[in-house]
Amino acid sequence: MIGSVLAGIRTRQWAAFCLGLLTCITAQIASAADCPGHPDALGISRTLVVDPKAHPRIGTMQYAETLPLRDHEVVLTFDDGPLPHNSDQILEILASQCVKATFFTVGRMAQSFPEGVRKLRDAGHSVGSHTQNHPTGFDKFSIERAKPEIDEGIASVTAALGDGGGLTPFFRMPGLRRSPAVEDYLASQGIQIWSADFLADDWRHVSASRVYDLAIKRLEAKKKGILLLHDIQARTVAALPRILHEMKARGYRIVHVVPATPQQPNTPTEPPQWQLHPPSETVAISYWPRIPNFVFADAGVLPAPSLSDSGWRDGQPVRLAEPFDRTRRRAHSVPLPQQAPWPRQPPHPAGNAAIDLPVPAQSIFEIQEKPRAGVPADATSSHHAEQAVPAEPEAGSLARRISLDAGDSRRRIPGSLPVAEPGLQRAPVGSR
Ligand SMILES: [Zn+2]
Repeated sequence: MIGSVLAGIRTRQWAAFCLGLLTCITAQIASAADCPGHPDALGISRTLVVDPKAHPRIGTMQYAETLPLRDHEVVLTFDDGPLPHNSDQILEILASQCVKATFFTVGRMAQSFPEGVRKLRDAGHSVGSHTQNHPTGFDKFSIERAKPEIDEGIASVTAALGDGGGLTPFFRMPGLRRSPAVEDYLASQGIQIWSADFLADDWRHVSASRVYDLAIKRLEAKKKGILLLHDIQARTVAALPRILHEMKARGYRIVHVVPATPQQPNTPTEPPQWQLHPPSETVAISYWPRIPNFVFADAGVLPAPSLSDSGWRDGQPVRLAEPFDRTRRRAHSVPLPQQAPWPRQPPHPAGNAAIDLPVPAQSIFEIQEKPRAGVPADATSSHHAEQAVPAEPEAGSLARRISLDAGDSRRRIPGSLPVAEPGLQRAPVGSR
């Protein structure tokens, strides 16, 4: 009987294992099948449907929330296009890997290259807006000045897309220059603001290799998130194939994000999933068992224990010299031997063992304390000091340094190249 039950359990476990394996294989096959001619394509692991009104601001570089991504999931975003030659190459690279991204197009670029905007849509990517003229210092704009920038940008991209439509309610601030008035306006329009989780500095005058290094290094630091790139940059075109190849080699998966519609409801999520690293990942609070709610069926007063229950006899304590077991058994009138039946340990033989041991020689305890000639006392610490390598500034410190530059986007950041793309501002903690 037990054997047959165990056999049943083993069969079910094996079936579950096979089903999981089959799912993995099917996913791999689906990825390859969806990408004809590219059997090793990265592909998209899933499509995430979001409700912009429920989560109006995302991207942990500036906001408390980001997209509800699982570990090793990445969302690719490209800004400032379309620009025919470079944007077309970006599209070809993405197509070769069968991955989908979100493009934040500039209204004036859409007016100049409407065909480029339609290519984005027709290739299945999400198309968002990025103002009409990509002005600098957008955070300093009054709402009266900012509104036309936003609205005209949306109108230009919409016109470029034509009858086919396809503009998503996704918006990215030019240079990530946020302001509360603009954020409120966009929220009132049901438009979701996309900041980012990490950058690759591809708008700076750096090499394609540097863009690749930063993208992978910062992704590895966060393990998931929204990557901000620029499809108008030649260095991004050069770096993107390596970035995607390395992402696949390291087990990262690409997620495509689309807005919810009446026909396509949003992907069900829980609020903690909209944080880059929910508390449950580091603190096991959510895994602690709940304290049950006890129901007292009988809340009557229990009888008070009598002295006899606690081992006291006639109000007198039991003598500690008497073994407890003996005391307990006496109540049943079972005679016990006066002494334990096991033999006593014989006493140790008289004598002093210490005097029988040899006395250690004095030379054993002598220590040579002569300093070594030519070696300074702090030589070891100096050596370690030379070994220390200064840490390279990372995304966080970069964001802080750029944040200091919020007043003028064209000022040089100390120790860096001129900033072509304006910096970002971090929203105050707990707000926006
Ligand atoms: Zn931009």
